[in-house]
Amino acid sequence: MFIKKLIPVALAASLAFAGTYAMAAKQTFVTIGTGGITGVYYPTGGAIAKIINAKRDKYGIRASVESTGASKFNINAIDSGDLDFGIAQADTQYLAYNGKGPWEGKPVEKLRAVFALAPEAVTFVAAEDSGIKSVKDVKGKTVNLGDPGSGNRVNAMDIFEVVGLVPGKDFHDEKIKPADAPRMLQDGRIDAFFYTVGHPNGNIKEATAGKRKVRIVPITEVDQLYKNAPYYSVTEIPMEQYPDATNAKDKVQTVGMLATFVTSADTPEDVVYAITKEVMENLDEFKKLHPALEGLTKESMLQGLTAPIHPGALKYYKEAGLIKE
Ligand code: GLU
Repeated sequence: MFIKKLIPVALAASLAFAGTYAMAAKQTFVTIGTGGITGVYYPTGGAIAKIINAKRDKYGIRASVESTGASKFNINAIDSGDLDFGIAQADTQYLAYNGKGPWEGKPVEKLRAVFALAPEAVTFVAAEDSGIKSVKDVKGKTVNLGDPGSGNRVNAMDIFEVVGLVPGKDFHDEKIKPADAPRMLQDGRIDAFFYTVGHPNGNIKEATAGKRKVRIVPITEVDQLYKNAPYYSVTEIPMEQYPDATNAKDKVQTVGMLATFVTSADTPEDVVYAITKEVMENLDEFKKLHPALEGLTKESMLQGLTAPIHPGALKYYKEAGLIKE
């Protein structure tokens, strides 16, 4: 999965047949780590790959997408060289680069920011019959905090720390993948789940559309969280996207942050430059590839970047006048 540069050697015959001589271009293969297949990272990674692969003749870049455990997994896989790019929550980017939280004492020094993506919201989904109407109501219940490689598990842990509940002690803590959570909620095997994700998305649609009635629970008792962590902000989930949920209000308050596109300092400058330029210059087309990307602007895509911006991305931002010299 490392970047492989293949210098084709066996093209001479076909070139001779064509009666022309051309230098065979180098091919660079890159892999983008995303998240679960029902989230927003997976189609977003697909959209980035689509945009750059359309210019394969120009750049020789071939991008592919991998479904992963999400933010934390992607950052660690970039660090080990198993992934070239990944999508990660802005909060996990901050924690990893600065050696905090799950990366306490082990900063991911190679981590580089490329651009920000859609906003995400900590989405707390609970069965109506569980009686859960706030995070404090989870006592004695079975709650999925998410995949060990996810950013949403980090967020859920932060939230429970602030409200003074201990996962695994005060309530049963599940570690299942987001793609499986809606079915497990519908089957009565869990009472609630956390998913930090952009909206709208198929996962929450699936969770709210079944026979068991489901609500999106507001997360409001967490003032201390915003004081502890500047990368979190107050946000709202528009409920018109999930008409089958039992919520009476059209918006649900919760904790938000941005999703970001990250890479390694080892990724070549020309590759990062090409991807940054093509996504930025084809933003209208890119935004059409998933409804959660709708609100993106060139300016919003430069927020939430706490790791140093990769030199390839920086070259484009300076050229385009988005960042001053
Ligand atoms: N924000 C989630 C995480 O890193 C992933 C969301 C998604 O896949 O769309 O845990």
